[in-house]
Amino acid sequence: MRTRFAPSPTGYLHIGGLRTALFSYLMAKKEKGTFYLRIEDTDRERHIEEAIDHLKEMMDWAGFKIDDGPYIQSERLEIYKEHAQKLMDSGKAYRCFCSKDRLDEMRKDQEKRKQAPMYDRTCVNLSKEESEERAKSEPHVIRFLVPRGETVEFNDHIRGNVKFKTNTIDDQVLLKSDGFPTYHLAHIVDDHLMETTLVIRGEEWLPSLPKHILLFRAFGWEPVEYAHVPLLLSKGGGKLSKRDGDVSVEKYIEKGYLREVIINFIAMLGWNPGTEEEVFSMEELIEKFSLERVQKGGAIFDTAKLDWLQGQWMRKMPIEEFCNQIQPLVVEKYPDANKDSDFFSKATLIQERITFFSEAQDMMGYFYETPKVEKSLLASDKQKVKEEDLPKIFEILISELESMENWTEEDIKTKLFEAAKANELKNGQLLWPMRAALTGLPYSPGAFEVATVLGKDETLNRLKSVIG
Ligand code: GLU
Repeated sequence: MRTRFAPSPTGYLHIGGLRTALFSYLMAKKEKGTFYLRIEDTDRERHIEEAIDHLKEMMDWAGFKIDDGPYIQSERLEIYKEHAQKLMDSGKAYRCFCSKDRLDEMRKDQEKRKQAPMYDRTCVNLSKEESEERAKSEPHVIRFLVPRGETVEFNDHIRGNVKFKTNTIDDQVLLKSDGFPTYHLAHIVDDHLMETTLVIRGEEWLPSLPKHILLFRAFGWEPVEYAHVPLLLSKGGGKLSKRDGDVSVEKYIEKGYLREVIINFIAMLGWNPGTEEEVFSMEELIEKFSLERVQKGGAIFDTAKLDWLQGQWMRKMPIEEFCNQIQPLVVEKYPDANKDSDFFSKATLIQERITFFSEAQDMMGYFYETPKVEKSLLASDKQKVKEEDLPKIFEILISELESMENWTEEDIKTKLFEAAKANELKNGQLLWPMRAALTGLPYSPGAFEVATVLGKDETLNRLKSVIG
C-alpha cells in the first residue's frame, strides 16, 4: 500500500485536507506501506517555499511519518510536457488554439441553448503540419481527446460501483498555455510514476473521475484505486465553509485543542468504528480504521463533539504532563505557584474539569489568593440555602472543622456528614456555602477536595473571614 497527501499550497491546512491526509496515512500504516507528500503547485506562480515548509511542519505536528517526498510538481514540468506529447503522438490529445474570447462566446451560446458547456472541437481537425506550424508562434493548450460513445465503470472504495457515459465529458485541458499541467494530467502522471496504489480525495473530484480513468487508459496504464470521502457539512446542513467558522487546522490549534483531539475528531468525520467507542489514539486508529466504515453521506462538523473530545483527552493526560503544561501559565499570574510543593494535588483537582490549558489560571486562582466572595454566591435555591441561615451554617462548619485532628478528605467528609445529620440539614446545605466560601466560584471542585488541599488553617481562615 502506498498513499500520498497531495495538497495545493495555500498557506494553511484545511480541515478537509487534514482528513484526506489522515485517512491516507492510516491506510498506509495499517498495511505497513508507505505514505508520501506531494506538493501540487501547478496553479500559482507565487513563491511557495514557505508554504511547503509550513505543510511539512503541520505533518510533523499531526504525527505523520512521511516516508518520501515532498515531490514538487512545479519542478517536474518537463515530465508532464513529455507525457502530453506522448498522448498527442498517439492521437489521444491535440493542440487547441482557440482564444479565451472565442471560448467565452461558445459557452454563452451553449448556455442559451441550454446545452452543457463543452469544447466544440474546432481544433481537432487541424492537420498535424498546421498545428505544429502555429504552435511555434501562437499560444495554445493541449486537450485530451475524450473517446465518445463509451461507458466508464469504476469501483470506488467508498462510493462502490460508479458509471459514466463519455459523451458528456469535455475535452479536458491537460497542459495550459503557460506550460503548466492541470491537476488532471499532473496527478495521473505522478500517481503512476510514483507508484501510488490508493488515492483518497474529496468527493468534489468524483465528477472528474471518468476523465482520470480514461487518461490512465490512454497512457496504457492500470488506474490507481480511488476512494472519494464525503463532503464536510456544517451543523446547519450546507457545505462547510469559512462562514461557519474556522476551516483551517491552525485556528483550532491556536484555540488550544490538543493534537490528539483534532486527530481523533477528524478521523470521525465520515468514519465510525461500528461501536459506541469514540476516543481513539493514533495507534488505535491505525488498527481500527477501514474504508468500509466510511459513509457516503456528508460528514457533519460538530464543534460540540470537538469540545467533548477535548475534555476526554484532557482527563486522559498523564498528570505530570498536565502540570508541565499549566504550571508556567499559573505562575505568570501567581508567582507562588512556582515553588508550590502541593501544585500536583491542586492540578489533579483542575484536570477533572478543565477544557483548555488557558483556563488553569482562573481555575486555580483561589489556591494562591483569598477569593472575594459575594454573599449571593453563598446562598443557593437549588441547594436550599437561604441567606438568613448562613450565620448558623458557618457556625456549625467552623466549630466542627476546628475540632478535627486528622485533616484528610475522608475525615472531613465523615465529620460534615455527621454534622449535617445532627443539625437536620441536607449535606448540600453545609457543603455548598463551604465550597463557595473557599473558592469564590460558582463552579469548582467540591468542598472536601478543596479543603483538603488548602489545609486546616487556611480553610478555617476563609470560613471565618466570610462570616466576618
Ligand atoms: N491538489 C488536490 C487538492 O488539493 C489533490 C487532490 C488529490 O488528492 O488528488 O484538492
